Amino acid sequence: LVSRKKKAEDTIITINGESIGDGTPSFIFGPCAVESQDQVSKVAEAIGAKGLKLIRGGAYKPRTSPYDFQGLGLEGLKMLKAAADQYKLAVVSEIVTPHHLEEALPFVDVVQVGARNMQNFELLKAVGQINKPVLLKRGMSATVDEFINAAEYIIASGNSQIILCERGIRTYEKATRNTLDISAVPILKQETHLPVFVDVTHSTGRRDLLLPAAKAAIAIGADGVMAEVHPDPAVALSDAAQQMDLNQFDDYYDALMKFMKQYEFK
Ligand code: PEP
Ligand code: MN
Repeated sequence: LVSRKKKAEDTIITINGESIGDGTPSFIFGPCAVESQDQVSKVAEAIGAKGLKLIRGGAYKPRTSPYDFQGLGLEGLKMLKAAADQYKLAVVSEIVTPHHLEEALPFVDVVQVGARNMQNFELLKAVGQINKPVLLKRGMSATVDEFINAAEYIIASGNSQIILCERGIRTYEKATRNTLDISAVPILKQETHLPVFVDVTHSTGRRDLLLPAAKAAIAIGADGVMAEVHPDPAVALSDAAQQMDLNQFDDYYDALMKFMKQYEFK
């Protein structure tokens, strides 16, 4: 059902007035994790000031170590939703288990399924039964074919509002946190009718690569870019090394807009 052979036209997903997959790149910014009301409000204000429509932030955090910050859960989601409402933004946030869906859905506009859960088939079936868009991230060791099959689980359960997100894969290369598989973007665009995003933060894990990676993503035909923004990355409770601060975000977004104008991306 996700195949281009089944549906030739691009799927366009409209959230809060933002059309994802319409040929003009969209953007999702926000902190790695929701940490406090003040933190998410500052980021929401900066995003709103750019005229953007979406904010991300993790409340249920899937962490590699059980001793790392696990997220604020539902309380965090409520903070994110309050900040988003104030600046008229839609909320993108990860859900890690079907059990959290019901409590979380009133506070989330786009449900993120994280890399670690790309083959959590019960979660895929559960988000297939909601009527909100799903941002499905590629598993860190998933092939493109496995990624497409994960999306197929969601659509087969009844939800065709799926955004695919390339977020880097595990390779032998250590210069970046993961290896951004940029060619997955045109492959996914050819093979499926779904919009394709690139997460430049988790793929590169390097602040200095966020801009070139986003330019590459846009140039190769991605429908959008996701990147993490935190008011004070040095004290962030997760992903301190790669989040942008608010000034960097400002410069970053302006540089991307200039790039898009220069090369006449819509
Ligand atoms: C995230 O986007 O918050 C995240 C945890 O990313 P990933 O699932 O791609 O590792
Ligand atoms: Mn992160």
